[in-house]
Amino acid sequence: MRWRGRRGSRNIEDRRGRGGFGGRTVRIGGGRAGGTAKLGGFGLIIVLALGWFLGIDVTPLLSGGGQVVSGVPTQTRPISEAEQQEAQFVSVVLADTEEVWADLFQRQVGRAYDPATLVLYSGVTQSPCGGASGATGPFYCPADGKIYLDTEFFTTMERQLGARGDFAAAYVVAHEVAHHVQQELGFLGEANAIRRRVSEGESNAISVRIELQADCYSGIWARAAQQRFGTLEPGDVDEAVNAARRIGDDHLAERAGRVPMPHTFTHGTSEQRSRWFTTGWETGDMAACDTFGTDRL
Ligand SMILES: [Zn+2]
Repeated sequence: MRWRGRRGSRNIEDRRGRGGFGGRTVRIGGGRAGGTAKLGGFGLIIVLALGWFLGIDVTPLLSGGGQVVSGVPTQTRPISEAEQQEAQFVSVVLADTEEVWADLFQRQVGRAYDPATLVLYSGVTQSPCGGASGATGPFYCPADGKIYLDTEFFTTMERQLGARGDFAAAYVVAHEVAHHVQQELGFLGEANAIRRRVSEGESNAISVRIELQADCYSGIWARAAQQRFGTLEPGDVDEAVNAARRIGDDHLAERAGRVPMPHTFTHGTSEQRSRWFTTGWETGDMAACDTFGTDRL
């Protein structure tokens, strides 16, 4: 993906280089004014109680190796050149999602798109959905409408999961933005309301539909980004499809040395994730991503 020297997003909240808790929040490019809370107190409590991270669930892989979330602030530290590059990359991808989704909302939904804020953190941080750490992986918190990302995860993807390439990282950002799109459309609130009333197995099945739709939306984004900016390079789409396969529930369970048990899946299999991404990429149509209305997931 061509990203160097391109416009970045203003909606980045940079919490790196300081302790996990407390301290000041450094914003790149001014950030976004005002709060972004999407739910009232009631919704917030529900989210806290259930702790639904809409993230890339790498807990099976990282359990034991993740960092413990503690209330003790760590020392501030300088940001390395490599980290700065990663932040710029993420910022450009986020800006691309903003432009693409603003246009898609206008043409396919008939209304304006209100973009998400992306929190860059290092090690640990707090969110209304709970503490974030290396063990949680990137996630979207509906309570504040923010995406939480430690760019160290890109290294985990490459080295531990075999998801190589910059477009694998772009797909991760696009997937989390897709959860914000679902929130904007009201799908997330609706789906989570149903999840509260059903069994764990049924709740997991709904979670899979949420995640596969986010993968499909990520494919739509990739297609629109290519059409709009022409910034994809040969192999980029393959990198995203490969990444989707590498973070399938069955693959993650196998990597953790466990027998994959479908009723515990919350994100979908490798085959499903890569196929729904491809559906979005091939159609560019939000209606084609109706994972809630299909019998064939
Ligand atoms: Zn997700």
